[in-house]
Order: sequence, then C-alpha cells, then structure tokens
Amino acid sequence: MIKEQRKYLNEYDKGKSICTCGHLGDGSPSSHITGLDGQPGHGACRVRGCLCEKFTWADYSDEYKEYLKLVKKDADENLFKDQGLMI
Ligand SMILES: [Zn+2]
Ligand SMILES: [Zn+2]
Repeated sequence: MIKEQRKYLNEYDKGKSICTCGHLGDGSPSSHITGLDGQPGHGACRVRGCLCEKFTWADYSDEYKEYLKLVKKDADENLFKDQGLMI
C-alpha cells in the first residue's frame, strides 16, 4: 500500500469493521467501546440491547469496502499518470 492510500484510509472515520452481531466496530459512530489496550473495536458493544460482550470481527462494512475500492482505483490511476501511461 502506498502512502497516499494509507492517508485516505486513515481519514475514514465511520465504522469499518462489522462484529458478528452485525454492528459496526470502529470509527465514528462507533458501536463498540475502545478496549483497555487502546485498540478500537475490542470492547463490548454499546448498542442498546446488544448482548455482545466482546467485539468479534466478522467483515468490513459494505460502505468501507466500496471506499477501499475507490482509494485503490484512484491510486492506480495516479500511478498510470505518473508513468505516463494515461492518454
Ligand atoms: Zn458485537
Ligand atoms: Zn453489537
């Protein structure tokens, strides 16, 4: 991953990961509290009525997956431009 991509991914502040309960686990609005080790998404779910005691990663959210694709596409296009491959 190139530096630019990492920058865009760090700027994404919505929930990225989905817990097995279906709630988003990191970013804002986060559904899970931050763990003692400071890592996001390792605490219990904060969503009212959720019985989840520990965040268990299931998948990335669809929105974040789309965002990943966009970042990757954008970086690829810039790479082509840099190499003079784009007409
Ligand atoms: Zn959960
Ligand atoms: Zn939950």
